[in-house]
Amino acid sequence: MMQDRLEAVQDEAVRLEKVLASLSEELNANPPENVEDAQKQAENVQKLLDTLTRYEQELQKMRKDADVKDRQQKEIRVRAAKTKQEYDQLKVTYDKEFKEDTAKLQQMRARTDEEAKKLEPGLLNKYKSIKQHCTPPMAKLINGQCSGCFMSLPSATLLEIRNGSRIVECDNCGRILYDAGE
Ligand SMILES: [Zn+2]
Repeated sequence: MMQDRLEAVQDEAVRLEKVLASLSEELNANPPENVEDAQKQAENVQKLLDTLTRYEQELQKMRKDADVKDRQQKEIRVRAAKTKQEYDQLKVTYDKEFKEDTAKLQQMRARTDEEAKKLEPGLLNKYKSIKQHCTPPMAKLINGQCSGCFMSLPSATLLEIRNGSRIVECDNCGRILYDAGE
């Protein structure tokens, strides 16, 4: 928009300068015959000159604004380049960590699969189904309470857990309970 306005003003200034030139040619060829005519012509010329001055001022302001905008754009470009550099460095670190963590995760998954083979399938399925609504699916016994939902457990349940004769679930949250000592 600024560029368009700049060109329009420049064109208009050129046109006015031509008008002024032809006016002065005409004055030279046909000098005013009386004072009134001379005054009228002088007023016309002055009007043109005033308009030209206004255009000149507008052009100066536009050039100044353009300089400011150029500087701002340059700063933005410098900042963008710096940000890009920081991003690239971070990306390298991220890629490295991602690769390492993926390898670790694969190892852990392989270990989980190995361990799962040692378990009774029914028990593992129970664990998985509890996991769908409770995380973690197992809860430690702390001071006679389920550490998952903090409900106090009846002494019969505590006894069963300590006996270890069967898997005991919390009546309230359904987590598999285990004694901290085991
Ligand atoms: Zn519970």
